Amino acid sequence: MSPKRIALLGATGSIGASALKVLRQHPNRFHIAAVAVGRQWEKLLPILEEFQIPVAAAYDPEAADALSKVFKGKVLSGMEGLLSLVSDASVDYVLNGLVGAIGCRPTLEALRCGKTVGLANKESMVMAGGLINAALKKHPESAIIPIDSEHSAVFQCLAGRPASEVESIELTASGGPFRDWPEEKFDAITKSDALKHPTWVMGEKITIDSATLMNKGLEVIEAHYLFGVDFDNVRVVIHPKSIVHSMVQFRDGSLMAQLGCPDMQVPIQYALAYPERLSLQVPRLNLAEIGKLEFFSPDMDKFPCLRLAYEAGRKGGTAPAILNAANEVAVALFLEEKIRFVEIPKILERVLERASIGPLLSFDEAVAADAWARETARELALSGS
Ligand code: MG
Repeated sequence: MSPKRIALLGATGSIGASALKVLRQHPNRFHIAAVAVGRQWEKLLPILEEFQIPVAAAYDPEAADALSKVFKGKVLSGMEGLLSLVSDASVDYVLNGLVGAIGCRPTLEALRCGKTVGLANKESMVMAGGLINAALKKHPESAIIPIDSEHSAVFQCLAGRPASEVESIELTASGGPFRDWPEEKFDAITKSDALKHPTWVMGEKITIDSATLMNKGLEVIEAHYLFGVDFDNVRVVIHPKSIVHSMVQFRDGSLMAQLGCPDMQVPIQYALAYPERLSLQVPRLNLAEIGKLEFFSPDMDKFPCLRLAYEAGRKGGTAPAILNAANEVAVALFLEEKIRFVEIPKILERVLERASIGPLLSFDEAVAADAWARETARELALSGS
């Protein structure tokens, strides 16, 4: 079997690092045809060298410029560069590990070109889930294999069974670092408190989203579009140890769960090799040693971001794109220590109140909604209203 030719988007991020570990373990099965980054071109250099990659793209034009001065292969720049990279005939599989809304168009473009997308960029489904599902239908040779650990778990539990046999999807959530904090202490939460995730080591943006539970909220929306299950039937259960990665309740009473040590290499490799299971050197679970697995209901009053995500998801249309964009701005401002932790959901709520939410018929509408939400969130945050 000739190796799968992979375009790795977000090569220098946390998903990228785990993907490279997987690719090192299976050099005969996978070949990196191209890589893309947001702006971290310097971190990309050793990767280009090690894997002898001929094509690289940077979303940030200055980063692409700097890269082209030292890298002898082909360098692509900007969103156009990302799109031409994923549509290139030398690529048959796109592993999308970009962070944020910039990952959305490359996903759509790859599907339009009939490629398989290993999707770790949850913003793609949140921003344009309806459009992505339409593209999947129109290009039946294309496919999405989820990489987000929860959605990989659901995908594995479903094992190809249709939504009509599913009663509910149960997404597990670690609960983040503030699960046991009393609400009175939330006012005093600092950036370093919020960056301490109890079980997963991830990038800063997603770590803050895990602390507010917005990460789970975005995952609820992602699950709705990926698996075609109503919002009433996508549930969240707090499970602090992150051993059960998610579950599917089938209509015959069977509850299927996928378990494992929390390591992103597992869902990444599964998505790359699907439907095959290749060997992988990661720690194995010892349930007797773990002893006890705990589950709780989430507290939507303490974590209003989760409630807001359900609300935006049920509204549909441009609402999820608006929520996602406003959240990116709010989280960035929190990381710059310009707003407090408790202000994040307040800003999102106000942006959603002001929004005129319409149906999502084209990607341009998603982009316009995204831009409006960013500007409105910044205004509201910095005016302190
Ligand atoms: Mg996840």
